[in-house]
Amino acid sequence: MSADDARDGDSTDDLNAFVTRETVEGDADGPLAGKTVAVKDNISTEGIRTTCGSAMLAEYVPPYDATVVERLREAGATLVGKANMDEFGMGGTTETSAFGPTKNPVDPERVPGGSSGGSAAAVAAGEADLALGSDTGGSVRNPAAFCGVVGIKPTYGLVSRYGLVAYANSLEQIGPLANTVEDAATLLDAIAGPDEHDATTRYDAAEGGAPGATDVPDDVHPADATEYAAAADGDVDGMTVGVPTELVEGADDEVVAVFEDALADLEARGVETVEVSLPSVEHAVQAYYVIAMSEASSNLARFDGVRYGVDGGEGNWNESFAAAREEGFGDEVKRRILLGTYALSAGYHDKYYEKAQDARAWVKRDFDEAFAEADVLATPTMPVLPPKRGESLDDPLSLYLMDANTVPVNLANLPAISVPAGEAEGLPVGMQFVGPAFGEEAIIRAGSAVEE
Ligand code: GLN
Repeated sequence: MSADDARDGDSTDDLNAFVTRETVEGDADGPLAGKTVAVKDNISTEGIRTTCGSAMLAEYVPPYDATVVERLREAGATLVGKANMDEFGMGGTTETSAFGPTKNPVDPERVPGGSSGGSAAAVAAGEADLALGSDTGGSVRNPAAFCGVVGIKPTYGLVSRYGLVAYANSLEQIGPLANTVEDAATLLDAIAGPDEHDATTRYDAAEGGAPGATDVPDDVHPADATEYAAAADGDVDGMTVGVPTELVEGADDEVVAVFEDALADLEARGVETVEVSLPSVEHAVQAYYVIAMSEASSNLARFDGVRYGVDGGEGNWNESFAAAREEGFGDEVKRRILLGTYALSAGYHDKYYEKAQDARAWVKRDFDEAFAEADVLATPTMPVLPPKRGESLDDPLSLYLMDANTVPVNLANLPAISVPAGEAEGLPVGMQFVGPAFGEEAIIRAGSAVEE
């Protein structure tokens, strides 16, 4: 199916969770034997096209597997297809895909969230046991919340990004989606750990690397010393959960009601809740979009019709470059390349990019202070219920604001999980737990308590 066929096609009988359906059996008899996995279509798969939801890459077939795909195979998992997504990960509803929107299995008139909407929909609909997504500013947690499944955004440097087509490298991580916290953690166990192909997975606390789990030796990567699935034991007795007021106030009432019920349940299980404040998050969405668009404008320069992408035809370089990009990219991607290029251009660099980096540092400091008072922080994952398809696409700003609770976590490179906390108006509501760097066990533990 070409991008044009998909755009025009009527797929009401199908959720359109996959861009490409193709089965690859796992090698071994590992911990994921017998499990089916959907892989987001921005994660490279050898011999299987990897489109990033873009017409630009409708015909692109990678010559190698991403590290996470190799690890899936080694763990015995069976790949069942490449999951639909917002084009290059830019969006929160899976409506910017050149292959048409994905539907939310809970209510097909609504969006599944995004950008990993195909991954979450496939798991929620039972078309895959597990899925991989990528999270630059919420793209694993957002669709997990909207589809009523579990999603984990790992600490930056926990999971290799080798083979992930870059959108904004300083922010993104590949993360698991599943029906239960334990299954998501088992998938995390399979993919996490150092990789010689990705220097950001190097870990040495003694050299000033991020602080790891307390009982991990300084030079051992936390993933090599931890079994994440074992932390899904629901034992939260004595845990302190911080609630950042700024990230609850902005959410819709029906979402807050579900969130507060879930907090009360946790208190009944021995959790102490405390209020914390993250004043900097007021600037997080602005800072995130400046940084993400700036990085995107640079990363997407390679799609020039020569190295990658659709052919821009004969003629001079500028014309064929422009033709390839005019044809290959959708509106949201073009908007972001333009804004990112502007933010980085001489004379404006100080005004936008540097300010955004200052805000990013401030967000990090605020989280550090909050973790002096609490083991994990809890917020609603998304401030709203899943919108109907077509409702939000015309207003990019309202879409960006939907990311208020997820993007601060990426700016600070921290781990977070979204777990289903209940329903409002028959639609799923997700609860997010954020942990300190490499504090995956604590958020998995907290998430598994909500699930019970
Ligand atoms: N919605 C955010 C964006 O559009 C997050 C996307 C993501 O995490 N890939 O940038």
